[in-house]
Amino acid sequence: MKGPTPKRLWDYVGRRLGLGAYLEDPGDGRRRPQIPAAVLVWALLMGRLLREPSFPGTEQLVASAGAGALRLARGFGDDALAYFTERLEAAGTRRALAEVVRRSKRNKAFENARFLGLAIDGTAAGRSRKPGCALCRPFRSATGEILGYHHHLVAVSVVGAGLSLPFDVEPYGPGDSEYAAGQRLLRRAVEKLGRRFADYVVVDGAFATAPFLHLAGELGLAVVARLKENLPELAAAVEERFGNQPPARVHYQGRERIEIWEADDFDPWEGLRWETVRVVRYRQYKPDGACFQADWLTNLSQAKASGLAVYRMAKSRWEIENQGFNDAKNRYGLAHVCHHHANSILVNWLLTLLAMVIERLYRLRYLHRGVPPVLSAEQFCRRLWLSLGRPPYDDTS
Ligand SMILES: [Zn+2]
Repeated sequence: MKGPTPKRLWDYVGRRLGLGAYLEDPGDGRRRPQIPAAVLVWALLMGRLLREPSFPGTEQLVASAGAGALRLARGFGDDALAYFTERLEAAGTRRALAEVVRRSKRNKAFENARFLGLAIDGTAAGRSRKPGCALCRPFRSATGEILGYHHHLVAVSVVGAGLSLPFDVEPYGPGDSEYAAGQRLLRRAVEKLGRRFADYVVVDGAFATAPFLHLAGELGLAVVARLKENLPELAAAVEERFGNQPPARVHYQGRERIEIWEADDFDPWEGLRWETVRVVRYRQYKPDGACFQADWLTNLSQAKASGLAVYRMAKSRWEIENQGFNDAKNRYGLAHVCHHHANSILVNWLLTLLAMVIERLYRLRYLHRGVPPVLSAEQFCRRLWLSLGRPPYDDTS
């Protein structure tokens, strides 16, 4: 089995993913570069894939494994990564991510899901004690005292089709908001992927506002959004209707029981230019007795998507939490501030997503072709580490 090595990954990214031009010129903004951008961007990606994302960690890795073992043309000194990421343009990495995602759909990397989704959600990644860049947002104690600073971002991921690919982020600093950043991000995602790429966008209650829903409609996307107390009139009308009714349908998935209520004739709230609002409530009973209930609103008609299909789209929102933010933070160091500078933080987030996308496509789609079982993310990482100690001739097997 062809396990991961830096050289194989380089070939894969350059040839199969079509990012050869990006790896050579990722959008270097340095005036007189001493070290080629190709060396530094690959070192940053390898640092993430080896889960050694800090800049000193990456520099030590290159120094101790040797540049050649990581498929780098040369080594580099301290501070090269900080200087480079301050000046690397985010646009190049964003384009590369969108290109890989579009190519994945063409190559049928997504399962034959009837609906392909985009999930959008926000998180905080990277604390610091002192303010250090334009993106720093203070967080305060109950009494208003500033406890420190956070960096906030909104991310977008392909969901609902068996392969989560988070592919862009939009930061928001002080004076900006998650909600405004989410709209910029959704607009850019559809511009880059095309209007026909996805069927729906799924979001939490914070995005269930008229302007966001209208924007999704303009961009040709159906919306599936969590209905919470921030829409009190609609939430009350839904409870009044469904609270006294037995479920319209009951489904069994494995050992889970899923009860569905739905109606498509709720009144829109003031400002929402929809004729009516469809709401789906589910109550999910887990085999261990746990029970989850939630209400979701959508403009998908019943003819297009059944209550169960809307339930699945609603559940696909978890992918941006679990396979998106949790993996990015726990495995690839998204929450670590490598270098406290706004552009450096942004391009580090984007490179983290690119490393995740490369890892998933290589491990789950390329290595896995016809050869089960799938390597886990941990096995992939361990094999990549072990490959660093091998002599180079072994690399061609
Ligand atoms: Zn900052």
